[in-house]
Amino acid sequence: MSQSVQSELEDHVDLTEDDDPRFDCRTIYRNMELENSESGETSEFRCGSWRCYCCAHRMRMNLIEDLERLVEERPEMRRLLSLTIDEEVPGAPTDPDEQHEYLTDRWNALRTELTDHYGDLSYVWIRHEGDENGRPHIHLLVDRYLPQAQISMLAQRVGLGEVVDIRRVNARNAAHYLTSYLGKGALASLPKGLRRYGSSEDIDLDVRGSSPSHDDWRLMMDDYEIRRRESNDPLRREVTRSDLFAQKLNGGPVGLDPPPGEQ
Ligand SMILES: [Zn+2]
Repeated sequence: MSQSVQSELEDHVDLTEDDDPRFDCRTIYRNMELENSESGETSEFRCGSWRCYCCAHRMRMNLIEDLERLVEERPEMRRLLSLTIDEEVPGAPTDPDEQHEYLTDRWNALRTELTDHYGDLSYVWIRHEGDENGRPHIHLLVDRYLPQAQISMLAQRVGLGEVVDIRRVNARNAAHYLTSYLGKGALASLPKGLRRYGSSEDIDLDVRGSSPSHDDWRLMMDDYEIRRRESNDPLRREVTRSDLFAQKLNGGPVGLDPPPGEQ
């Protein structure tokens, strides 16, 4: 898929509301496909949203695979660290959505402190929706030993409280440990616009997977609102952003009955 098609879609996905229900792009966008204007070749269209059952599952599996590969290639990436909120810290929010934002913000501050003290740190982080007490976490894999006392002090300095945990794991367990938080459906119900994982610049995690990446690819649809007079066939045309939005609201292609089994 071309970068421009992908980013248009990400913009589109950002139009969703926090309480937007989960969906499956294989149903909602079933009249759409990518088409190569040079060869006429077609390719399935996947929306790439974490709220989409189909795409969230695929992206989670891609992330797991990427992490396993990373830990194999970079065996030094095996120090695990968990950051969470200390509700005792003055100003720490109690609303879960605000807690996620706060945690992100404080993690950014801690990262600055760590860079000041340790230079360029290689890391991967994954957000965990909440532990048994519902407290959001960020789990980190870093490339070096960080003394517990110092990291605790730095965490407190940025407002995270002393709740950090460092453990050393063997390479195989590290990927397993991080991805064990990516349970089925996990990451889908987080507030919109919130990053779900990230890494230092030297590490490239590609969860969306490889897609056709030439500008020759266009997203096309069968428009059932505009039918040909002779045959009653839908009009084939290029998809616009408003099509994506309208179809999502409609729960499927506009002008077409829902498939059997749907409401
Ligand atoms: Zn999708």
